[in-house]
Amino acid sequence: MQTQPRALDALVIGAGPAGIGTALALAAVEDLRFGVIDRGEIGQTFLDWPRAQTFLTPSFTANGFGATDLNAIHPKTSPAYTLGVDYPNGRQYAKYLRSVAHHFELPVLRSTEATHVRRRDAGFEVETSRGPVLARTLVWAGGEFHAPEPPRIAGLGLVDHSSDADAWRPREGRLVVIGGYESGVDIACHHVERGSRVAIADRATPWDAATGADPSFRLAPRSRMRLEAALATGRLELLAANALRVKPDGDGFAVALDDGTRAASDSRPVAATGFGPGLGPVAELFERREDGWPLVDEEDQSTIAPDLFLAGPSLRHGEAKFCFVYKFRQRFAHVARVIGERLGRNVDALEAWREAGMLTEDLASCDADCEC
Ligand SMILES: Cc1cc2nc3c(=O)[nH]c(=O)nc-3n(C[C@H](O)[C@H](O)[C@H](O)COP(=O)(O)OP(=O)(O)OC[C@H]3O[C@@H](n4cnc5c(N)ncnc54)[C@H](O)[C@@H]3O)c2cc1C
Repeated sequence: MQTQPRALDALVIGAGPAGIGTALALAAVEDLRFGVIDRGEIGQTFLDWPRAQTFLTPSFTANGFGATDLNAIHPKTSPAYTLGVDYPNGRQYAKYLRSVAHHFELPVLRSTEATHVRRRDAGFEVETSRGPVLARTLVWAGGEFHAPEPPRIAGLGLVDHSSDADAWRPREGRLVVIGGYESGVDIACHHVERGSRVAIADRATPWDAATGADPSFRLAPRSRMRLEAALATGRLELLAANALRVKPDGDGFAVALDDGTRAASDSRPVAATGFGPGLGPVAELFERREDGWPLVDEEDQSTIAPDLFLAGPSLRHGEAKFCFVYKFRQRFAHVARVIGERLGRNVDALEAWREAGMLTEDLASCDADCEC
């Protein structure tokens, strides 16, 4: 008779900052059998980032004084310290993730894709490219980068998304960027700095947002400084209108805007319209909020599949978006605690996350307004 393999206590899908960070917290739970799988390498998304792209949240080693590096995923680590840079690029940050995983001897299985997830009486059966894995609890940390959100316009096939390396290659002449939040400003400044004339189109004018302190809703200081420098060249124009349609026009492209005007682009326009939740094989195991993001309960758990947790930038609680590392890391120790307690294990070591300011359990405190 064939025996069933023993189920893991927890399986984490995805070895980016959310998956490795959650695994580090799970490692602090006493006697927990857990593992991490990734279809690529540790930090695969960052290896796939366009070369010119860097973090916009700065890294700085202040851990010893109670201020954990903003981009760190463990209280006792700092990308600034490991890498010697303040705004890491993708390759550098992937190196940080690799060294942390190696240092803490995390059980990470690379080149292992989760293709299908089935609920069982107690836990989950995860079909992977290396065969099935049984797990009592599951953490989805598959990220968003591979789910770019296209703009809702006609002529979509004529546009490059900002996550595509082609969008970052040098462009001759004029370029239209659709979308004016962080990634739009980032790529527009990149091309202005290399001599192109760029127009950013966005009716919401996010570059003007002056209220609220939360960087999920307003430009980071570094982006604002780059924007001002780009405007000072005279080669950047900000258009308060949305793109409706892209059409070929001579050797270039014409972008029709909803204020009745047109903007010319000598090369394929760039859509900087963000990312979707990209839930892959667990898409059917989450209900959706009205805004389309996954619905979770107070434990970051699926409302229809108990014991399935969400980690990473797709996490939303009310108005709070956990879309940066320093935000979503606040939930690593919380999820690990819920899993540990549910399985009757000692979770005391997770208090180190709270002491390092890396644990928010009261979600009402996620209002980030500053007085000055
Ligand atoms: C352009 C851009 C710039 C950003 N800049 C910043 C910034 O400056 N500061 C900041 O804090 N945040 C930033 N973010 C947000 C956030 O930090 C990143 O999105 C981060 O990559 C999210 O981490 P993650 O671990 O959730 O996902 P990812 O890093 O994308 O990791 C997901 C992993 O899951 C794996 N995977 C996916 N599907 C499967 C599957 N079916 N089976 C197995 N493995 C799978 C992937 O290979 C990948 O390694 C940025 C995001 C983007 C897109």
